[in-house]
Amino acid sequence: MTGRPVFLFNSTAERAAVFGPAFAADLPDIAFETDAAAVAPDEVRYLITWTLPPDLSRYRNLEVVFSIGAGVDQFDAAGLPPHVALVRMVEDGIIRMMQEYVALAVLTLHRDLPAYLGQQAAEVWRALPPRQAGERRVGFLGQGMLAQAAMERLRPFGFPLAGWSRSARAIDGVESFHGEAGLGEFLARTDILVCLLPLTDETRGFLNAELFARLPQGAALVHTGRGPQLDAAALLAALDAGHLSGAVLDVTDPEPLPAGDPLWRHPKIMITPHVASVTQAGTAARTVIDNVRRHRAGRPMVGLVDRARGY
Ligand code: NAP
Repeated sequence: MTGRPVFLFNSTAERAAVFGPAFAADLPDIAFETDAAAVAPDEVRYLITWTLPPDLSRYRNLEVVFSIGAGVDQFDAAGLPPHVALVRMVEDGIIRMMQEYVALAVLTLHRDLPAYLGQQAAEVWRALPPRQAGERRVGFLGQGMLAQAAMERLRPFGFPLAGWSRSARAIDGVESFHGEAGLGEFLARTDILVCLLPLTDETRGFLNAELFARLPQGAALVHTGRGPQLDAAALLAALDAGHLSGAVLDVTDPEPLPAGDPLWRHPKIMITPHVASVTQAGTAARTVIDNVRRHRAGRPMVGLVDRARGY
């Protein structure tokens, strides 16, 4: 028993070693704990975790659950009482890594790297017809925090940028589309499609044959959202038919991608094991501490999830 409100930390020891001292220095009136068995359940006000523990109901005074990652689709929202706030991770480290990854993937496809790797394996020295960035239209599914940050990083290359989201967005230098009505026009002008949508009931299976058919001939995909958004069989069919020219996948369903899965060895697909962007403990601790302060002061927390919307 500490007598102080408890912040229960359920993540790696490496992260705890960074969060612990930051909490002790900045929030000394909150007890930072990593051992659930050592705390009185009624004192737990805050929990940071990747998934909800099965015994969550014992924390009767829980006020906020923080996701240790940017997404919240891994939470079984039905298991979280409606009065408990759910907050996704919004921190500089995640943002910077996603900027790097999307730039890497878009440039990989723009500069035909998968084809050149194939040529290298076959010891072929042959230049493919080059295309200027100004002629390669990049479109983002999702115009949220990460998509906007990635757009900002791509802008200096000169790619014509567009984005699509649920609601209308105004982003400097970006042609914005929204809703079902805007989807067709958005897809028709997109040569490299980057998926940065959250996984919800509406976006599950969204990257499917019908969507691929609405992209121009030769378009390519960068998938950095969540694995279950992609119909992998439809992607393989679109690549084999020559309608799509390539794909960079950071997420798959399931993860890890099983041995022998046809995605692994497809010559037009590059795969990374869900590493596009990872929570960085130092910057994450800062934003979580700021959010705890906001919560205690009755101010809105950054990254608060709309439970009805699912993101
Ligand atoms: P965010 O700020 O919440 O933005 C989400 C965007 O998606 C918003 O523009 C939203 O539209 C749009 N959206 C949501 N549902 C939609 C729908 N049904 N139709 C059209 N647009 C929809 O999220 P974020 O921080 O950018 O993160 C996006 C996702 O990236 C995360 O949820 C996670 O799945 C993924 N991610 C992946 C990695 C990785 O390593 N691969 C790392 C971090 C995050 P509105 O603007 O209208 O709200």
